[in-house]
This record gives sequence, structure tokens and C-alpha cells, in this order.
Amino acid sequence: MSNQLDINAKLADPVLQFTDMRLRQISAPVSAAEFDSVWLRDWVSRLDYSRVTFGGIGIAAPQVGLFSRLIVIAIPAHERVGFGQIAEVPLQALVNPEIVWYSEDMRKATEGCLSVKGYEGFVVRPGKIGVVAYSPEGKRLEFEADSLYARVLQHEIDHLDGILYPDRITTLRDLRKVSPVAPDDPVLNFNKLIPRPEAGLVM
Ligand SMILES: [Zn+2]
Repeated sequence: MSNQLDINAKLADPVLQFTDMRLRQISAPVSAAEFDSVWLRDWVSRLDYSRVTFGGIGIAAPQVGLFSRLIVIAIPAHERVGFGQIAEVPLQALVNPEIVWYSEDMRKATEGCLSVKGYEGFVVRPGKIGVVAYSPEGKRLEFEADSLYARVLQHEIDHLDGILYPDRITTLRDLRKVSPVAPDDPVLNFNKLIPRPEAGLVM
């Protein structure tokens, strides 16, 4: 799996938006015969290409119109409100991922989604999870995740079941519209902020 795709070399698969009812279906498991195939390798690369192009830390196959249980996650090391220092999660493609246990402690934190453009929300989720999944080559993986990694996994696996994060919000004030600050916004006259794209906010 290449991390160095040439952004200009081809067109990224567009990301379906929340009004598209296809996002609401339950995606099919990848079959044994599809592991380690050209088809799966190609989709992993296409999915990650869309993730990189549109600036996400995670993406699920149904978001680009492939209704198979495949997700891609890559989290850069960074500091994040509510989490503190986030450790890097190197690029990882997971096939047929399943959450096998949840911790009892619940955390509330912000989420954005490539399929819910222009919004963000506060979502309550378990802080730690156990996951069983497969690599695209068919190797069985079993691991625990906490912090932002646990949240991104839950968010992406929700996509495989047709669930979007606003479904998990129960109070209107926990969902809000966001718009980027324009370089000529007067608020920038009052400090030394240099406008730059916020990377890695969406899942
Ligand atoms: Zn999402």
C-alpha cells in the first residue's frame, strides 16, 4: 500500500454526502476469495487516495460507493483538544473489522465526517475498544484501541452499518455548522494567525 500517491495523477473517487441514501445500507463482508486480490488492493489504494485528497484521518468504503466492509485509517501525531497528545497511527487498511468489546467509560468529543461536510458534532462513545479485523492479505488481527484511534475506528465501522455520527447526537446544541475562516476575515487583523488548512479533523 503506497503512502505516496501522486495527487495529480488521477481523479479521486468523490465522497457521497449524507443526503445520499446509499450511505444508509449495511455493507457486505469481503469474502475469502476476495482477500489478497487485485480488486481489493485496488480499492484500498482508491479509498486511501480519496482520504488523502479530501483530508481525512479515516474513511470507509461506502463513502466512495463501495458497499464492502473496508476502512482505511491514518492518524498523524498531533495535539488535540480533549485528547492531549495523540500518538501516530500509521496507514492501516482493515477488512471486515468488528468491535468485540467496549470499555464502560464514555467520552464526549468532537467529530467531523467527509460525508457530512460543513458540520461538526460532539459524540459520546466508549473510550476504549477491542477489535478483530483482517489485513487485505487475509491476516487476522486482534488489537485494543483507545484515545482518538478508538473513536475513529468506531466512526468508520459505523459507516459500514449505515450509521452517521449525527445519528448518535441527542441534543441539537451538540451539532453545529462550521465554515472556514477566509484569509481576509477581519478577525485576523487582531492576532498573528496565519490561515492554513486544518488537517486531519474529519473521519
Ligand atoms: Zn465519516
